Amino acid sequence: MNHFRLSRRPDIGEKIRVSFEFFPPKSDEMEERLWDTVKRLAPLSPRFVSVTYGAGGSTRERTIRTVRRILKETDLLPAAHLTCVGADRVEIDGVIAEFATMGVNHFVALRGDPPEGVGSAYRPFPGGYANGAELVAGLKRHGDFDISVSAYPEKHPESPDFATDIEMLKRKVDNGATRAITQFFFDNDLYERYVERVRRAGIYIPIVPGILPVHNIGQVVNFSARCGAHVPDWLRERFEGLERDPQTHALVAAAVAAEQVLDLVERGVGDFHFYTMNRADLAFAICHMIGIRREVARTDSAAA
Ligand code: FAD
Repeated sequence: MNHFRLSRRPDIGEKIRVSFEFFPPKSDEMEERLWDTVKRLAPLSPRFVSVTYGAGGSTRERTIRTVRRILKETDLLPAAHLTCVGADRVEIDGVIAEFATMGVNHFVALRGDPPEGVGSAYRPFPGGYANGAELVAGLKRHGDFDISVSAYPEKHPESPDFATDIEMLKRKVDNGATRAITQFFFDNDLYERYVERVRRAGIYIPIVPGILPVHNIGQVVNFSARCGAHVPDWLRERFEGLERDPQTHALVAAAVAAEQVLDLVERGVGDFHFYTMNRADLAFAICHMIGIRREVARTDSAAA
């Protein structure tokens, strides 16, 4: 494979579509950072931008506020994440109705993690939706929404095996999910093998890879251990010794993610979802390297 040659093909950006994920800000300072990020990434014309729903439904109001502001102040299409945690069906149906009234027609439907934390047993909230598949069915009762769901190339840590894991994905698709976005991963072979398994199970919706630019390798290693994603040794080695050198860390991170995306393009993937962590620089640089450019930049160079 020759990623360098691929990245120089003039039409490469036209084959790739991206979306960006944000989380709702907790403070005025974080709010400012998010909006700087949104403004910087918006000219890349993402297919949609999604806003997460905090663990235990803790960010409900902030998620709603962020989605409302995206609708009001940008031309971006927001997708609202929603989980089943900590609320009964009546409450969740109320949130769905509120989003729908605002004009949201794309949801990312999730079960969510147990309120006691990842690793403890998940118990559905009394009178609530039990899992992602039930939430998808609930959303469909409200309207003909575009519904994205989660998928796990290394299987969800609670799933005893891939068959059980993919059975849950199948239930979500049977109930109306139109797209799956994967947990982040760093080994593209795992993704490819997972997609083969999914297709063998008769699931044909897009399985969009979730790409996590490595802003901080230490945090990624900790977080990966909790969500069952594997951090390969070669990746740790690339960041070795860069803990106190943020500039080189960022350059390496952009190169690593661009390499991952270009390899996936070569394997036939065209859609990518970036976990931005509300930071624009890495996502922007990676998009630039894979040929996704600001419209204004194309116009400028055409005029030159
Ligand atoms: P589900 O798809 O419902 O289930 C996940 C797996 O658990 C299944 O594959 C299945 O094997 C097993 N399982 C579940 N129920 C059963 C059952 N009854 N019997 C047997 N097995 C079962 N979390 C947030 O809090 N907020 C967010 O905004 C958010 N966004 C995310 C976006 C993406 C793209 C991804 C991949 C994850 C996101 N998460 C978010 C994390 C997610 O909530 C956790 O991974 C959670 O543990 C599982 O939620 P799910 O929707 O994937 O669950």
